[in-house]
Amino acid sequence: MRKRLIAGNWKMNLHWNEAMSLVSEIVQNENQSDWSSVDVAVIPPFIYSRPAFEFLKNAGSNIILGSQNCASTENGAFTGEISASMIEQIGATMVLVGHSERRDYYNEDAAVLKEKISRVLEQNLTPIFCCGEHLKQRKSNSHESTIIDQLESVVFQFSGEDVSKMVIAYEPVWAIGKGETASPQQAQDMHAFIRSSFHKKYGSEIADNLRILYGGSMNPTNAAELLSQTDVDGGLIGGAALAADKFKAIIEA
Ligand code: PEP
Repeated sequence: MRKRLIAGNWKMNLHWNEAMSLVSEIVQNENQSDWSSVDVAVIPPFIYSRPAFEFLKNAGSNIILGSQNCASTENGAFTGEISASMIEQIGATMVLVGHSERRDYYNEDAAVLKEKISRVLEQNLTPIFCCGEHLKQRKSNSHESTIIDQLESVVFQFSGEDVSKMVIAYEPVWAIGKGETASPQQAQDMHAFIRSSFHKKYGSEIADNLRILYGGSMNPTNAAELLSQTDVDGGLIGGAALAADKFKAIIEA
């Protein structure tokens, strides 16, 4: 039985006061609800991570702290970078790897992403590996081969033991931040396709236990239908994670 995961990626948004208020409102909502059947994660900008962690810890919250990125290298002379071991020390347990914004704006390729996953696993953190096709790949019917390339060049380079520690997020790039969502059927088809490719490579135990999140304009209106699909095990939420009431509605969908 796969436990659902709803993770809110705040990206480079919110000022200090807004970020702390958002954590506090999410914890208030958690206290007033029963979220025991779902894992909930917040993924703030690095600079807010430690105070967010302190807040969650002091409040006795079960909310998981994640990181939006990490360095592909270990600690050392890499100005401006944040290592997986630093992320581990501040209390985060999940790290996004391969978000389309990192791939597209910072040219992160398969070799870099593979190194990042290695660093994350070395610290016993959970990588959330993002994959997804652009609109032109969807239109030319090459979305499945795009995803296979992204998986083969990074995730499938790891052992089954490593892969069993990962989460996959399927995020069609054409649906991220656009207000346009994959239909529930499109999401289910891709998630089933991704799971079957893990099945072929690693067998049923790993494939059946793998959590595959959907990301791309999930919101309180479309969440229930997307999350009811057999192979959709949760959501990676951008815009709607910046409002505590919307995030709560998705968690409870
Ligand atoms: C994301 O960036 O991972 C994302 C899913 O964003 P949004 O929900 O805003 O489309």
